[in-house]
Parts: sequence; C-alpha cells; structure tokens
Amino acid sequence: MKKSAHLEPMDASLQVRQPGSTSISIIVPVYNEEEVLLAFHNRLLASMYSVGRSWEVIYIDDGSRDTSNKLLRQLHAVTPQMGVLRFSRNFGKENAMSAGLRMCNGEAVIIIDADLQDPPELISPMISAWEAGADVVNMRRRKRAGESMVKRATSYAFYRIMNRVSDVALQQDVGDFRLLSRRVVDTLNQLPESNRFMKGLFSWVGFQQVALDYDRNPRAAGETKWNYWKLWNFALEGITGFSTAPLKIATYAGFISALWAFIYGAYFLLKTLFVGDAVTGFPTLIITILFLGGLQLMATGIIGEYLGRMFVESKRRPLYLVDQYHPPRQEMASFPAAEHRAVGR
Ligand code: UDP
Ligand code: MG
Repeated sequence: MKKSAHLEPMDASLQVRQPGSTSISIIVPVYNEEEVLLAFHNRLLASMYSVGRSWEVIYIDDGSRDTSNKLLRQLHAVTPQMGVLRFSRNFGKENAMSAGLRMCNGEAVIIIDADLQDPPELISPMISAWEAGADVVNMRRRKRAGESMVKRATSYAFYRIMNRVSDVALQQDVGDFRLLSRRVVDTLNQLPESNRFMKGLFSWVGFQQVALDYDRNPRAAGETKWNYWKLWNFALEGITGFSTAPLKIATYAGFISALWAFIYGAYFLLKTLFVGDAVTGFPTLIITILFLGGLQLMATGIIGEYLGRMFVESKRRPLYLVDQYHPPRQEMASFPAAEHRAVGR
C-alpha cells in the first residue's frame, strides 16, 4: 500500500493547532466483520501509538450477528482506550456513525471502516492536516481496487446528479473516511433530522475542508454489506434529503404536457370543424391516455417519496437503540450525560 497523501494548498490565514496531548477519537462502524476485526485493531493500535496524542476508539457494533461482538468484548478487555457500543439491532452505517459522533470526546474525530479499505496508517497525515487548521479532512480515493466497473460507473453518475440538483457540493470519490474537528462534530450532533445522509451533512456544515488523496484497498476479508438495491435507496435518500429538484420535474412535466394538449386539442378542433373527420385517431387517443396516466403516477410517486420521508421525520423516533455500552476505561475527558448514552436522541 502506498502511504502517499498530499495536502492541497490551504489558506495561510488559518488558525494553526498546537501539537500537544489533545485527544483524538476514532469511530469504527462494525457490522459482521469477524474476519477482519483483529487485523484492523492491530493496525489501528500500531498507527495510534505512532501519533503521540491521547486517543480513544469507539467501535459501534451495528447489531452484528456473527462473533464480532464477542471479539470486540475481548479486545475491549485488553485495550483501555477502547469503547464498544452495541445497537439493539442493525440500524445501518449512517446511524452507527451518528452514534459514534455523539459518544466520542476527541478534539478531532476520525471515521474509519473496519474492513481495512481505509488504511489506518493515514490517520497520522490526517491529523497533520487538522493541526494545520482544517476542520474537515476528506479522504479522496485515487483508485478503487476491487470495485467493479458497474459500481464505479453508478457511483460517478450519482455524484454528477447529486451535484447538479442539490444545494450542497458533494465531493466526488470521497467516502465516509474522514476527520472532523470538534466544532464540526458538535454541529452535526445538533442536527435534529432522522435522515442521516452523512456524506451530504459532512459537506453541508462547510468550514475549512481539505482533501487528501489515497489509494483505496480492496476489502481485507469478508463481504461488502451493499447491494445495488441498497445503493439505489441510499442515492434516493441523498437526493430527497438535499434537493427538491425532483418535485419540480413534476411541475414542469405538467406544464409541458398541458401546453402540448392545448396545441394538439386546437388542431383536432379545427380539423373536426373544417374537415369533419371525427372518428379516426384511436392510436393517438390510447397513447395520450397512457402517457398522461404514466406521467401522473410518476409525479404522485415523486411526491410520495418526499411525503414518506416527512412521515418518518415526524415520528421523531430515536436514530438507534443501545443494547450495551462499554466505555473506554482510560477516560480522556468527561463523558456525555448518561441519558444521551441510553438512546440515540
Ligand atoms: N457497516 C455498518 N452497518 C451496516 C453496513 C456496514 O456498520 O449496516 C459498516 C461495515 O462493517 C464497515 C463499513 O460500515 O466497517 C463499510 O461497509 P462496507 O465495507 O460493507 O461498505 P463498502 O466499503 O463496500 O462501501
Ligand atoms: Mg468496505
């Protein structure tokens, strides 16, 4: 693996953070990762000891059904900097990340996957970028080994569409591997919505963002938790969460078809009046009915996508439920109040 990571030029007027013992938090969402957990943990430890700051790692067990939780408990017993939060069931990676952001105490917080696709060795250059003043350090994949052409093509299309229609600019080829400063984390924790499309929220907060390039490795072991149906729904979540453009499609499609109907109607009226041929035109009729029917269903469907999400938001359910929490034994700073730990809101 190449360790190269170059820092993009930044504004010289930025506030520079003093090196010292400021604490770093690492958040690791885990769902059925028994095959890689040990290898990941060891590489993380090696990387953290070379950083020379106090640190903690919070593993969020997103309702794993394999032996991940048992493994995490064993690692917890021998790693004083480690905390384990277990959800009552699988709530998804977005919610796992939200939980981690709420639980951690670090001045800088790094989110990293457990499958070793995000190399833990890059934590050190990420911290350097934060020390230099960045609030968000985005890790941009230079190459995506082990991912199919179709996945890369759909991902490319998604970013193109998202950036065209939404108000926030999503960074192409940046996943969830990133560093966030304390003020960014505090801002994210205050957001009330249950639609946690984190990639969008990370961009939405703004502040000083920099990007480091890295080569994304294939998964060390185990399987990806994503399939195309999940990715499609994830994309819908992102688009509906950050843009109302699809709703406008319905409006404009309506305008265009009304205009077309008016012109076409006038044509038939005149034709009937002057030529008197009223019976032909069955194909036109059937096409028109089907086209308009389809258009109406589509528009209703788009509205439904938004309505459904409003329904979910309005219930104000917690983002996740905690089954168990085992905090790090080596406390870095004061932990959040107990009620914040019990449920996700
Ligand atoms: N993950 C999770 N909950 C889920 C699915 C995945 O916490 O419901 C975790 C998973 O254990 C891994 C990270 O999210 O640490 C990324 O998952 P994966 O490697 O399957 O995604 P990909 O890298 O293929 O996008
Ligand atoms: Mg992965």
